[in-house]
Amino acid sequence: MISLTRSIPIQILIIEALFRRLSPNHRMLPKLREEYNKRKKGLAGENKIDYYLEFLPPNQFHIFHGLRLICDNRPFQIDTLLISRKFILLIEVKNISGKLYFDEVYKQLIWTNDDGDEQVIQDPLEQVKRQSRQFVKWIGSHHNIPIEHLVVIGNPRTYIDPKSGPVYRNHILHAHALEEKVQEISSNYQTDLLSHKAFKQLTTQILNSHNPLAIDPQKTYQYSSSDIIKGIQCPKCEKFEMKRVQQKWACPHCKAASRNAHKQAILDYLLLIKPSITNRECRDFLKISSASTAHHLLMSMGLSFTGSNKSRKYFIGKDKVVD
Ligand SMILES: [Zn+2]
Repeated sequence: MISLTRSIPIQILIIEALFRRLSPNHRMLPKLREEYNKRKKGLAGENKIDYYLEFLPPNQFHIFHGLRLICDNRPFQIDTLLISRKFILLIEVKNISGKLYFDEVYKQLIWTNDDGDEQVIQDPLEQVKRQSRQFVKWIGSHHNIPIEHLVVIGNPRTYIDPKSGPVYRNHILHAHALEEKVQEISSNYQTDLLSHKAFKQLTTQILNSHNPLAIDPQKTYQYSSSDIIKGIQCPKCEKFEMKRVQQKWACPHCKAASRNAHKQAILDYLLLIKPSITNRECRDFLKISSASTAHHLLMSMGLSFTGSNKSRKYFIGKDKVVD
């Protein structure tokens, strides 16, 4: 059973909004493209393992994707966490291409990329072991349950050198071998260590403690509000000059029409400018003059809000916005 689904990382949503709304010669764009490609690749690997985990018996496992917990004020992220009544499994996903040799003596990963260049990179097994230690601390001593860890390589064409040390051979695998590996680990543990009630409580405790990363986009990606292009973007020609005509958006350039083009614009504002928007800010950003139209558009988004009349602030989610 999937208890926490994997959502698109906030950084990917922000960068996509920046691609839409920064001028094509903005100095940050090369860096943004680089980070975007890296994150998309990572997400593709994670989605691949999600597919293989779907084959596991849903009543035996609760699965959490993209879990972020905090222990002793230090956050740690687990790509995928599986809990059962017999054991817990942490999975770190890597989507590296090329050839991987895991050197057990020096605990290093030697990566040969597709061009044949060799370099030492961070050992993902050490990474997941560290997360495992943090998780043990987080869960506390009242749950006496074994905790296992694995590193899954998302790219099926990556060559994992079979000469890698035995510890690595036991803990590193391709995504397609994951289901079988989980069954193998499962067969090592016969006893239910968590009661049905404790299993359910632990699931709830984990879900309630999930603390998604909040980032300051302008600080992280080094742009200012004035860099952001205002207006409604035409879904066809991508110019930002759509006008409100008879309850629709019309593009004076390519004559395309849209009913919903404002939705992307309002979400872009919330992602790139600040996490809340007022009626006045909406009119300014969408380049419209009517307060009642802005009210109607904001209400149609199903956003949460606080305050009334001119001081009303709209935002995504249930939490009150402090800004
Ligand atoms: Zn157009």
